[in-house]
Parts: sequence; C-alpha cells; structure tokens
Amino acid sequence: MERTLIIFKPDAIEQGRAGTILARFEAAHLRIAGAKVLRLQEEILREHYSHLADRPFFGDIVAYMSSTPVLLVVLEGENAIARVREMVGPTDSATAPKGTIRGDFGESKRRNMVHASEDKTAAAAEIARFFSLSELF
Ligand code: ADP
Repeated sequence: MERTLIIFKPDAIEQGRAGTILARFEAAHLRIAGAKVLRLQEEILREHYSHLADRPFFGDIVAYMSSTPVLLVVLEGENAIARVREMVGPTDSATAPKGTIRGDFGESKRRNMVHASEDKTAAAAEIARFFSLSELF
C-alpha cells in the first residue's frame, strides 16, 4: 500500500473537473485517505516547486497555483504513486496521450489539471507538507 498527493490545480477547479477526475481515481481502486481545500501561499509553493526555482517560468507557476483555492487529496492504494502518475500523463497536456487526465482535459504545459507525487520520497515529503497525521485516515 502506498499514499500519494494529488493537487487539483486552479484549471481543474475553475472548469468543475475535480469530481470527474477523482471518479477516475476511485474507479482505479484508489481510496481517499485525506482531503482539504486551501489557497496555497507563495512560500509553500516555492518549497513545493523548489526543483524548478531556476526555470524562467517559475514565477508563472507560483502565480497560477495561487490564483484560486485548490483541492488537495491523499490517495491510497497498491502501487498508488506510479499508477496515478500513469493516469495523469506527462507534463505537457498537448502531447499527453488521450485517455490520460492531462491528455483529455489539460490545456498546456502549465495548465495541466493536477499535480501528482513523482516517487516515494516526493510523496512522503509532499503529504507531510500539506497534511498533519491527524488529518489522514
Ligand atoms: P509534473 O507536474 O509533470 O511532475 P514538473 O515537476 O516538471 O512536472 O513541473 C511542475 C509543474 O510546473 C507542471 O505540472 C506545470 O504546471 C509547470 N511546468 C513545468 N514545465 C513547464 C514549462 N515548460 N512551462 C510552463 N509550466 C511548466
């Protein structure tokens, strides 16, 4: 059993796609272990996306991710981290295959619907960044 962090980004919330996307995860036998709506502040976004700090589009990502409240969900299941990444698809929505969440609903490299933890180390750090133990079930 693994846990992974999903962030339903502002485009998913604005377009009312969160439920549709969450239904795909539930249909794949991923269980909700925690959930909350937050407006992410610049400081936590700079930490979350620190691997991109030197990229020219870093400021745009921070502005986009803080532009509306987002839905954060911890999903739990067998091989959850890799399975969710597979379902989400590659970063660029334009080249993401149809059938993936980004390929079906995303608009661009930046506006790509959801964040999903990349690997076990990232998942552990990201879940701890946004959730306390008492918020996970
Ligand atoms: P992923 O979200 O697929 O794990 P990264 O960690 O590389 O990808 O990037 C984090 C987020 O930053 C992406 O989901 C996307 O919203 C944004 N991003 C990444 N690359 C670009 C880019 N070249 N131009 C604009 N935004 C980008």
